Amino acid sequence: MTTSNPQIGLDLNRAAPPDQAIVVEAKDLRKSYKNFEAVKGISFQVFQQECFGLLGPNGAGKSTTIRMLNCVSPISGGSLTVLGQSVTENIRLIKSQIGVVPQDNNLDTDLTVLQNLQVYARYFNIDKKEATRRADEVLELFQLTDKRNNKTDEISGGMKRRLVIARSLINQPRLIILDEPTTGLDPAARQVVWQQLRLLRDRGVTILLTTHYMEEATQLCDRLVIINEGRIMAEGKPRDLVRRLVGYEVIEMRLPEAERQELLPLIANRPILVEEAGDMLYLFGQQTHAFHNLTLPEGNYRLQRHASLEDVFLRLTGRGLAES
Ligand code: ADP
Repeated sequence: MTTSNPQIGLDLNRAAPPDQAIVVEAKDLRKSYKNFEAVKGISFQVFQQECFGLLGPNGAGKSTTIRMLNCVSPISGGSLTVLGQSVTENIRLIKSQIGVVPQDNNLDTDLTVLQNLQVYARYFNIDKKEATRRADEVLELFQLTDKRNNKTDEISGGMKRRLVIARSLINQPRLIILDEPTTGLDPAARQVVWQQLRLLRDRGVTILLTTHYMEEATQLCDRLVIINEGRIMAEGKPRDLVRRLVGYEVIEMRLPEAERQELLPLIANRPILVEEAGDMLYLFGQQTHAFHNLTLPEGNYRLQRHASLEDVFLRLTGRGLAES
């Protein structure tokens, strides 16, 4: 892609690498805190203009990985390049070309929306006139123009989040890195953030994000890795991962022990995988008609639904994303 988008000040011609250029590359990346290895040798590539996700439960090592990408935490082993530069050598250059959205909003509540952007622009040596021009562009893009002169403690949580994402664009980055972009937002505010991120991606920005929301990963990510306890468990497009590792439909149920024994012969010759997690039993139908004409024991609870990334995680780890 070599499109330029003056509307949001993103000079994409400046980037100009060919399609599918590698924007981030981690090879056997490791991070240790004293004796504890939080990231245990992960490898992945992020390509230009895709939205790439690190999906995993709390404690998986996502933020640790993000901090290494943002050049604020040194790597302990392996290699990591961002926009073709090593994070151990070219920290300044990388920082000047990426946009960072931390987990916490870290806005200055004494300042207005506009002033927050102007102050942030100073870190990149952008003069005030240009900073104001860019600020107005990103405020327009994120539908915050009418809040321009409000103090940041006067705007909603969803608006604060959009402002922090808008702020990350002030240096016209080719890559934005977001740590848990919608944690703490209500479903409606979350949808708006997703729309804005898709818009940015469609305008040529590469996006790398972490999330523990299966829904967020499904809605946003072109490709993702599932991380657990510092290791990559699976990689691919969300839909492909679901099809490959789970299938099409899932029946989740709670069955008394006696009825569990009845179940296995019923499904023996069908393309169905069974997973137990706590007191729940999951049947993964690996083909479209796996459950056709199947009569199951009544049980205490039963729900049939489409397979999702949550099920992928369950199959890989034996537990759900939320309960970790
Ligand atoms: P996630 O972002 O996926 O929730 P983190 O990267 O924050 O996970 O943490 C991964 C693991 O590393 C956790 O076990 C966490 O307790 C540990 N950890 C994170 N930061 C530090 C630190 N500064 N010192 C020691 N351990 C840490």
